[in-house]
Amino acid sequence: MSLIEARSLYKTYELGAHKLNALDGVSLTIEQGEYIAIMGPSGSGKSTLMHIIGCLDTPTSGQYLFKGRDITSLSDLELARLRNAEIGFVFQSFNLLARLSTFRNVEMPMMYAGRNRSEREHKVSAALERVGLSGRRNNRPNELSGGEMQRVAIARALINEPAIILADEPTGNLDSRTGVEIMKLFDDLAQQGNTLILVTHDAGVARHARRIVHMADGRIDLTVGANPAPAESLAGPLGSAQSPSPAPRPLTPDS
Ligand code: ADP
Ligand code: MG
Repeated sequence: MSLIEARSLYKTYELGAHKLNALDGVSLTIEQGEYIAIMGPSGSGKSTLMHIIGCLDTPTSGQYLFKGRDITSLSDLELARLRNAEIGFVFQSFNLLARLSTFRNVEMPMMYAGRNRSEREHKVSAALERVGLSGRRNNRPNELSGGEMQRVAIARALINEPAIILADEPTGNLDSRTGVEIMKLFDDLAQQGNTLILVTHDAGVARHARRIVHMADGRIDLTVGANPAPAESLAGPLGSAQSPSPAPRPLTPDS
């Protein structure tokens, strides 16, 4: 079973008499442990696809399976629970709660998941250590740099050990040096076996991924890099992270 299976996704918006297909028949399979970038110009449908992958939105037609489960059958409450447990989001604008400290921002998804206080203290401290923010645990977002805020968001995205981390233009609001540091952090997370999906219009960011899916006008028009075998066919719990990274292939039409 693949972690994510999208088949013939359409997302259609009615604009007066005109219909716009923000997604125009997208099929995509993502295996556990993959490091993948969804690339394409502004308006090509990247965020629309990311919202469906992240269970924030549903397609107008087509099928979307998350861990083999058809998410269109879930209620809003079930979807919210699934997002909190299985998906870590990182956004361009960080989306931190301004009145809460670093610690409290990272703790929030564990509160929703009903984790007890000692477990929260332990795991949040470990997550802050992992992103290099142990010394900033009591600061609010307005006391942090952009790079530090994005590290808080990454720690928050990781805290419930989600099945996937979805990052939409994660370096878009950062200077280039800080962007490089944040990409180093994503590379480390991928190396450790996390499943990462980067959404970006920046080829320099996309290059970090092992597979690049390129979108134009609501369709996937090119894929670079291999789609690995499903994770269960590989030895070890880290799935494809333990397989040799595929050599980049020439551009081929996506099948
Ligand atoms: P990207 O993230 O690649 O910039 P989007 O997925 O945000 O692209 O948008 C794809 C297309 O769908 C664009 O033409 C956009 O204007 C349109 N679109 C997105 N959301 C809506 C909406 N809620 N209503 C109408 N059109 C939308
Ligand atoms: Mg977008």
